[in-house]
Amino acid sequence: MTKLLLVVLLAGPAVAGPMIVIDPGHGGAQDGASSPGGLLEKNLALSISKKLKAKLEAELEAKVKLTREGDSRLHLDERVMFANRQRPDLFVSIHANSMPTATQRRVNEGIETYFLSASASGEDAKKVAARENAEARQQSKAATSDTLAFILADLQKAETHHDSSRLAYSVHESLIAGTQAQDRGVQQAPFYVLMGLEAPAVLIEVGFVSHPREGDRLADAKYQQQIADSIAAGIKAFLSTVEARDNKRTEGVVPAPGAK
Ligand SMILES: [Zn+2]
Repeated sequence: MTKLLLVVLLAGPAVAGPMIVIDPGHGGAQDGASSPGGLLEKNLALSISKKLKAKLEAELEAKVKLTREGDSRLHLDERVMFANRQRPDLFVSIHANSMPTATQRRVNEGIETYFLSASASGEDAKKVAARENAEARQQSKAATSDTLAFILADLQKAETHHDSSRLAYSVHESLIAGTQAQDRGVQQAPFYVLMGLEAPAVLIEVGFVSHPREGDRLADAKYQQQIADSIAAGIKAFLSTVEARDNKRTEGVVPAPGAK
């Protein structure tokens, strides 16, 4: 009886699922992007985040925390601090895109997945980062520009950076396959909400709320579930790659019999 209990106790932590932080973009007075039909990015992001949380808990036995559970305002640096406190295995920030003019709204649709980089991968990526960074506090903007070079130089060496890239590709491929949405690629840009995170981190623009067809799809709960399921599948694939690598490493450090 005692022995059995001990085995159960010892087995407990070993089978614990991953810790994942999901960050629904914007909230409170910050609506984020909006569609002509009135779909707000902050609501869409929260809805998808909750579906993703449920899916990850069910599929991966993951422990999942959201940076916000309701329609509350949260600063970008608070999101980062909250996430780091949870010591997560990975971080996913959920956002949606929009275009300002009628012509652009008609033609721009599809999914983009980002990981952090000092310079944006293109003009469009730069604009997306500028829009998502717009609500940063002045104070954190100043602090960020001072330390940006340092953080990013460090980032280039860090394994976290490679894992962020790997996570981005894994999630993005799964999203495109699962939703059949237009593929706008994996991109890089200097997002404040990805800076200073001590875990592999990505920001997903799940689509354009401003596009006539995609905007309607995004408002549909079934499509939101498809997005959440696809992100979860991408996360699962990423985690098994990382686990396989770490297991290999652990084997590598066990000294061979007789070795000094
Ligand atoms: Zn956003």
